[in-house]
Formats: sequence, structure tokens, C-alpha cells
Amino acid sequence: MAIISSSSKENNNNSPNPASKSPKSKEKPPQEKSLLTPEATTDEKITEADTKPEQSIRPQNLEDYIGQKALKELLHIAIAAAKSRKSPLDHLLFYGSAGLGKTSLALIIAAEMGVQCKITSAPALERPRDVAGLLVSLQPGDILFIDEIHRLPKVTEEILYSAMEDYRLDVTIGKGTAARIRSVSLSKFTLIGATTRIGALSSPLRDRFGFIQHLRFYEIDELTKIVTRTAKLLETVIDEDGATEIARRARGTPRIANRLFKRVRDYTQVKANGEITGSIANDALELFNVDPRGLDWIDRKLLTMMIENFGGGPVGLDTMAASTGEDTQTIEEVYEPYLLQIGYLNRTPRGRLVTPAAYRHLGFSVMHQKDVV
Ligand code: ADP
Repeated sequence: MAIISSSSKENNNNSPNPASKSPKSKEKPPQEKSLLTPEATTDEKITEADTKPEQSIRPQNLEDYIGQKALKELLHIAIAAAKSRKSPLDHLLFYGSAGLGKTSLALIIAAEMGVQCKITSAPALERPRDVAGLLVSLQPGDILFIDEIHRLPKVTEEILYSAMEDYRLDVTIGKGTAARIRSVSLSKFTLIGATTRIGALSSPLRDRFGFIQHLRFYEIDELTKIVTRTAKLLETVIDEDGATEIARRARGTPRIANRLFKRVRDYTQVKANGEITGSIANDALELFNVDPRGLDWIDRKLLTMMIENFGGGPVGLDTMAASTGEDTQTIEEVYEPYLLQIGYLNRTPRGRLVTPAAYRHLGFSVMHQKDVV
């Protein structure tokens, strides 16, 4: 399976399209050429990154992929059915918080289907020609993975409609009365979209996906297995307590579990004899300011501010952002989902409320709470 990525860095520039420098570029009108040139958007960054040892912790097949049992079962059936029909998989949309394994699943699906996976992200597809270039470069059965798909600009999104439904690319060439539409047939491909905000997706786009699947937060025992697997791959000795200690603080998220594991591994190499135990993991994570429920100082600052300044709420998102110096999107997409999941925050029509559990966790008396649901 080949992986090709396209990044916003390459596409956000004003530098000339490398393809337009070639003598061949004169054969077609410039706009048409630029719209249909795959070289405009692809590079090999993820291919390189994924071969680095640290990246090899990404699960390579459905068996390696821990947790999300129901979703794996569904994918297993869909993949087997598509393979027996010798047709590409239906388009898939994965939604859930960052780091829950959406990209990993797309790569696993490509590997299981034996096809190429092209990875890109909506911010890299600012101009219609970015997505058009990628689409025409797809081979039959290939997977196109678009991360943060809710951030696609409208013009780019509209190109995807006919591509997803009829494997056809409609491009408008020229302007005004001279404008004409050219249709280009595309290979039958599978689009896998990933988003942290399903509600921000337009319904025409959402309706074109055959599967819409939610990735949930992971249980502690699942994260313990992920940490143990990562330790094995990175040749580090860890006992069950050490893995559980890291898992408990990983906010239900594999990416965070792996990140915390690496910090604990550093600490253990320097301060201990190299083996990660429960008490060493605990000491290391305290040093890194991650508390036993996985809250970092921004979570604590957010909750403390809500308790001390607003009697626990209700507090609007804008106020939460202003008081912590984070932007509203980060609060909504990074901090809030986990705090809601563990029952430290409640969402109400009037704003967010801190729950008694969060009061107790932070050492405040629940008596001081003004408004608890
Ligand atoms: P997302 O695309 O949802 O942000 P990724 O697929 O990039 O998340 O996953 C982040 C990291 O977490 C991966 O590099 C992988 O190592 C690990 N990971 C995610 N899900 C799993 C899983 N189910 N089992 C094992 N490791 C996982």
C-alpha cells in the first residue's frame, strides 16, 4: 500500500505550480491544466514519516487495532463484501475526537483492500484544482482520505458531489459567456472523510457517505493494551500497573496514551532503571502535570475559573475562551469533549455547568456550588 499525503503548506502558496513549468503545460489552457494536475497537491511526506520507527506504532491491520469492536466488525464485513464483489468500498465518514484512530482506520482499510491511500486534509484543498488534481490521480479502488472534512470550502465540496456519486469531475473552464463545463471520468474510488465536528458538515456532503461511524473514547483496559503494545514495539519494559497508570490519564485517547508513554519512558530512562512500573509512571506524570484523571493545567484552569468566577456556571463558550486564553474551537474540540465524557461538565441551553464530581476532584466544596444539575 502506498501512502501519499498532501499538506496545506504546499497548497497555500503563491509559488508557481511546478507542473506549469513543464513544456507540456502549454498544450492545454492554463486553467484546465492546473485543475487537473495531480502534482499540484501530492507529496511523499507521510510515506517517509510512516516508515520512521516512532510511526510504526500505528496499527497495521484490524487485529492490531484495539477497541472499537462494533465498528471493526462492521468494517470487516464491508471489506469482505467489497472484495468479493471486486468493487470499491462505499464512501465512509468517521467522526470523533482527535487521536481516536480515524486516520489509522483509513490506512488499515487501504491495506486490507490492497489499494493505495492518498491522505490529505481539508485546509490543503482550498482551491478546486487541489481536489481535482487528487481525484484525477486516483487509480481504480484507491482511497482518498480527507481529514477535517468539515473545513472544506464550498467550491471544493461541490466538486466532491459528482465525484462521489457518479465518479465524474465537472470543471468549469473559462469565465462569463466563454465558460464551458468539461466532464472528466474518474476511477471508482472510496472517499474516507474524518471529522471532529459532524454537525458542521453540510447535509448534501454527509448524505453522500454510505457509512457514517462514530469513534468513541476508549476504556482504560483498551488503552492499557495500547500502551503495552506500544511499549513492546518500542522495546521498553513496562508492567501492568505502569501501563494502567498511563492509560488512566490518557483522556480515553490512544494518541495521548502513546504520547504520555513516551514521556514516561524518557523519565524512566533518566531517573529509574529503565523499567516502567506503576509508581514510576505516577511520579513521571505528576512531574508532567497530568493528574490522575488525565486533566492538564488548562482543563484545571478552565474548571477552576468557572467555579471561582461564575459559581460553576452556566458559562458561555466565548467567556470560557476569553478567560483561559484559548480559542473557542480548541475548547469545543479538544478540552470539552473529554470533560463532558467524564461527567465534569454539563452542556445546557444557557451554557456550560461544572458538575459536583469536578468540584470534588479539584478539592472545592460542593456546598459552594450555585447551580448544579
Ligand atoms: P485521528 O486520525 O483520529 O486523529 P490517528 O489514527 O492518527 O487518530 O491515531 C493516533 C495514534 O493513536 C496512532 O498513531 C496510533 O498509534 C494510535 N491509535 C489510534 N487508534 C488506535 C487503536 N485502536 N489501537 C492502537 N493504536 C491506536
